[in-house]
Amino acid sequence: MTYAEFRQRRLRGEVRCRQVVEEFLHRIAEHSALNAFITVVPELALQAAEESDARFDAGQARPLEGCVVAVKDNISTRGIRTTCASRMLENFIPVYDATAVARLKQAGAILIGKTNMDEFAMGSSNEHSAFGAVRNPHNPAYVPGGSSGGSAVAVAAQLCHVALGSDTGGSVRQPAAFCGVVGFKPSYGRISRYGLVAFASSLDQIGIFAHTVEDVAGVLDVISGHDPYDATTLPEPPTRTPLAEDFSVAELHVGTMPQALLEECHPDVRAAYDRCVAALRAAGAHIKPVELPFSHVWVPTYYVIATAEASSNLARYDGIRYGFRAPVEEGEDVIAATRTSGFGAEVKRRIMIGTYVLSAGYYDAYYRKALKARRLIAEAYAQIFTTAHVLLLPTSPVPPFRLGERLEDPVAMYLADFFTVSANLAGIPAINVPAGVSSEGLPLGMQLQAPYGADVRLLQYAHACARLWGGGEALEPR
Ligand code: GLN
Repeated sequence: MTYAEFRQRRLRGEVRCRQVVEEFLHRIAEHSALNAFITVVPELALQAAEESDARFDAGQARPLEGCVVAVKDNISTRGIRTTCASRMLENFIPVYDATAVARLKQAGAILIGKTNMDEFAMGSSNEHSAFGAVRNPHNPAYVPGGSSGGSAVAVAAQLCHVALGSDTGGSVRQPAAFCGVVGFKPSYGRISRYGLVAFASSLDQIGIFAHTVEDVAGVLDVISGHDPYDATTLPEPPTRTPLAEDFSVAELHVGTMPQALLEECHPDVRAAYDRCVAALRAAGAHIKPVELPFSHVWVPTYYVIATAEASSNLARYDGIRYGFRAPVEEGEDVIAATRTSGFGAEVKRRIMIGTYVLSAGYYDAYYRKALKARRLIAEAYAQIFTTAHVLLLPTSPVPPFRLGERLEDPVAMYLADFFTVSANLAGIPAINVPAGVSSEGLPLGMQLQAPYGADVRLLQYAHACARLWGGGEALEPR
């Protein structure tokens, strides 16, 4: 059930919040093999449900009253362990809520637990977690995507109504595609990063998972808007997103990607892309092929900037101020020992690459060059959006893959981000919309990208496309 449907039924008195929370808790236990959650908070959730029921009974329901939310474990929750799926923060209990979490609670939402993820949000398959891999609910032999895999699974397997994730290079959109749900990354600065554990600060955004664009919009309208605790937030109030049922895609100018790039995608992805374009054309949309002149540098540019910022951000985990500390002998190097045993292999790999591209001899060759490439990528987007409302891309060049398939080959794993990282580099909003299934019966997703700041319009377009392409149905996990 979507939150919007639940709310209607609750307003008519057909269900109670407590009953729904109990049902979700039951399902979480039943599907524990998916490993979607690191921490579940049954007492807090049931207590919040009582309050929501009282509010509904009194006719004072807030905008997200009784909406059951799962939150990625790199988003700070007061009094609730926030691990980043790392040994480094295994026992870290924050003393404050992230702004997004505080706003959800104020609007009546119920936090049910913290979701599993790739350690420090680094990964595309959710196999890099100190708490074990997450599994795809459509077929547990397959990955759910990453790094917000737990949040995608929590929504897809109906363990909550909606979920928060973080998207630095695709970590909301790609797992949403692999699990068959909607996943939205807003414009940079639309949602406060206060309380989001930093990975690459100039790329990081909190994003939203739901079954429908309508539920995504409901959450965005609550958690977006200026935040005095995050100086990079836009100086604007929270969004208001009306989703008119009569919006016609006939008004839409859709940019489509070059054939040569499409040919590098998996045949199932190609077929889905062609199907979606055909459906748009049949509905009267204006289809306009565009050039993507810098697509060959999207992934390298991202992996230079993201690792550089990560190497700086993760320097705070030293075994001295907070978090894990290696039990070392006197005289030994506490910091080195802590980092060696506290971080997993992928995190260490990123810190080393980032340190290298920032080092005196290589700064100009890698980091400065990546900043220039980033500017060109953003300018190319601005050019595209002078003639198209949205750009249509696959979310992932490949359908969901099997656990273990890409683990030994980091570059193959990084290429899974081919179509998602550019939106973060340019700061623009982007959304995954479910679009059918692969030949192996796993979900496929298409991505719509829009100009900087056009978050509300993007949701309106995505709402129309979702209806056109079908999909997004909830499933019963195996
Ligand atoms: N998969 C990408 C990476 O590993 C994106 C991660 C993210 O968006 N957090 O860096």
